Amino acid sequence: MINEERLLNLFLKLQSFDSLSFHENEILDYVYNNLKELGLYLEIDNVGDILANENNLENHSKGNIYAYLKGSLDDSILFSSHLDTVSPGIGKKSIISDGIIKTDGKTVLGADDIAGIASIIETLRTIKEKGLKHNDIELLITIAEEPYCQGSRYFDFSKIKSNKAYVLDLDGKLGRCAIKAPSIISFTIEIFGRSAHAGFSPEDGINAITILGNALSRIKVGRIDENTTLNFGKLYGGEQRNSIPDYVNIIGEIRSLNSNFALKLMDDITKVFNEEAKAYLGSIKVSFKEEIKAYSVSKDSNTIKKYNEVLNELGIGDIELITTFGGSDNNNINKNGIEGIVISNGMNKPHTVDEYIKIDDLNKTSEIVLKLMTK
Ligand SMILES: [Zn+2]
Repeated sequence: MINEERLLNLFLKLQSFDSLSFHENEILDYVYNNLKELGLYLEIDNVGDILANENNLENHSKGNIYAYLKGSLDDSILFSSHLDTVSPGIGKKSIISDGIIKTDGKTVLGADDIAGIASIIETLRTIKEKGLKHNDIELLITIAEEPYCQGSRYFDFSKIKSNKAYVLDLDGKLGRCAIKAPSIISFTIEIFGRSAHAGFSPEDGINAITILGNALSRIKVGRIDENTTLNFGKLYGGEQRNSIPDYVNIIGEIRSLNSNFALKLMDDITKVFNEEAKAYLGSIKVSFKEEIKAYSVSKDSNTIKKYNEVLNELGIGDIELITTFGGSDNNNINKNGIEGIVISNGMNKPHTVDEYIKIDDLNKTSEIVLKLMTK
């Protein structure tokens, strides 16, 4: 029922904008104007300013778009997608061959998450054009999703009337949906030792690298159990070959489907570093933040039931419920009491320069959204 040519053109237009996280204004204005033409109630919040403050940015995005369209059917549903892309994402090209859209291999495509936004807008155009009856529709189009969902973190969820949400932000075959996602804790550990000449007076020094090495040798990394991962991702420290290093800084993250377990693991790591620092008369400073909170949606929830019915009606195939180890705006949606799932928008290999989407899957995503809105 949707207009496939118009959808493709919209996808290509949205894809042509540079929209790295915190710099989404161009695409934001374009999306806003499109929604305005369709007669939706619209707001842009001030979250861009909050994030600019926190991240010390001069030029930054305005904020998240909230949109609302009153319907005549019984249900009320929130749809969500994000405006930003990861790097490399400047000067994205789009190449179409054999029904597939990809880039020249120098940047990501940005189907993550333009595919979601394009599908939503085309669906609304179809509804308007054909005068279709629909549910109450709410949209949350966010900024800065990629860096730990910062845009939706500060969104005022008290505006949302729906108790169901579909976040169009999952890769893979249509019908895939994420119903569990982890808490993510980011952390920084600083180790303070004492510098001394490595040859003349090593006895006077406290070697921060030794403390680090001893601590790391006691900590299991990688997959801790089936629900939890731990990674130390980057470090720096020391000055030169012949000085005892008095400082090391190491950063990492914990992901766990069990929020309490993640916090306990952070506590355990801190204890180990503390003990090793004490043993050498050094000290540490640990800072951490729960960037997003884990959620789990019940398999017999209404949100999943409705999605499953739509897939069946369209003959798209079976629903596939998955657990993801990535976060999305759906973490913040669930944290605020709305039963949301993340559904495939047809994109493949997101966050790589090989990212692509089949035009057919883009069309079908829009058909799925149309059914969800009009059923
Ligand atoms: Zn995404």
